[in-house]
Amino acid sequence: MRPTGKLHLGHYTGALENWVEQQNLLDEKGARAYETCFLIADYHNLTTSLETGEIYTHSLDMLVDWLAAGIDPEKSPVFRQSQVKEHAELFLIFAMLITSSRLERNPTLKEQVRDLNMDSLTYGHLGYPVLQSADILLYKANVVPVGDDQIPHVEITREIARKFNNQYPHPLLGEVFAEPSPKITKFSRLVGLDGKAKMSKSLGNTILLSDNPDEVMKKMRMAVTDTLKIRKNDPGHPEVCAVYSYHSKFTPSAQLENIAADCRAGTLGCVDCKKLCATNISQELAPLLEKRRYYEERMDMVTDILLDGEKKAKRLAHATMQEVRAAMRLGETTSSNHHSN
Ligand code: AMP
Repeated sequence: MRPTGKLHLGHYTGALENWVEQQNLLDEKGARAYETCFLIADYHNLTTSLETGEIYTHSLDMLVDWLAAGIDPEKSPVFRQSQVKEHAELFLIFAMLITSSRLERNPTLKEQVRDLNMDSLTYGHLGYPVLQSADILLYKANVVPVGDDQIPHVEITREIARKFNNQYPHPLLGEVFAEPSPKITKFSRLVGLDGKAKMSKSLGNTILLSDNPDEVMKKMRMAVTDTLKIRKNDPGHPEVCAVYSYHSKFTPSAQLENIAADCRAGTLGCVDCKKLCATNISQELAPLLEKRRYYEERMDMVTDILLDGEKKAKRLAHATMQEVRAAMRLGETTSSNHHSN
C-alpha cells in the first residue's frame, strides 16, 4: 500500500480487512496458514507525486491504521520499501524481462492516466508493476491479498516469475520463484461519496478509518444517492446508490433486505437511510478508533515496530537476492581451488 496518509474505507474493504484475515487464518492443524509481510510502498508514491516531504508522517499514519485494524507486527513484519535495497535491485533485473508494450497494455495504468488526467507518463510509472513484482517475489509470496485493480499487476508478476525461472534455473532449487495468485475481497471497488468514482484520497470522496461518529455522519450527509429519488417518498434504486453499497458492507443482512425494500417502495427517505448507514459504519470502526488512540499515545512503539519489521524484511530479501544472483551467475569469482591448480 502506498503511504498516502490516513486510510479510507476503500483501503479497508479492498485490502486491509483481507490482509488481517490472511494473517490470522489457521490451517486444519491449527497452525498459521500463511506467513504474512506488509509493505509500505514509498517508492511507488513517486509514480504520481514527486513530493516526499510528508512521506514519513504519511507512512506512520498509515501504519497506525494497519495496527488499529489488526495487523499484528509479531506475526507480520511491516516495512518501508525504500529501506530494503533489494527491491530496487530486483526491479532492475525484472525490468529486462518484460517489454514496454506489455506494460503499456496494463488496464490499471490506463485507468489511472484517465482518472488523474495525466498527459504524459514517466518511465518509472510505466514500470510500476515491475517494481510491484519485485515487492511480491522478494518475499516469495504465493498469495497477494489486493483490490481487483491490482489483478493485472499480479498477472505481470506471474509472467515475470515464469520468465525468470525459465531463463535462470537455480543449480539447487530449480525454480527460484513461485507464481503468486491474487486474493480479492468482495468489496474491492468501494465507490466514493460522490457516487461516481472509486473512493480515493485524490478525489476527496472518502470516509477515513479514523473519522469519529460525528465526522462519519457529516460526510454521509453529503453522499450522492440515487439521482432519480428526489423527494423522500419517491421510489429509489438501491443498486445505483453509493449509500446502499456501504449498507451492503456495513449493515447486518437481516436489516439490509428491509432497507432495499423500503427504499424501492418509497417508504425510506435518504436522510434516515444515511443516518442508519453512518451509525453502522461507526459501529464497525469503533474498535479501530480505540486501538488507534492506543498507538497514537505510543508513537515510539510504532517506530520500533517499523524498524523491527525492516530488520526482518532485510533478512528475507537478502536471502532471495542471493538465490537470484546464484541462478544468474552474477558475482562469480575464480575460486581459490582454481588458483592452486
Ligand atoms: P493504493 O493506495 O493505491 O496503494 O491502494 C492500496 C490497496 O487498497 C490496493 O489493494 C487497492 O486496490 C485498495 N483500494 C484503494 N482504494 C480502494 C477503493 N476505493 N475500493 C477498494 N479498494 C481500494
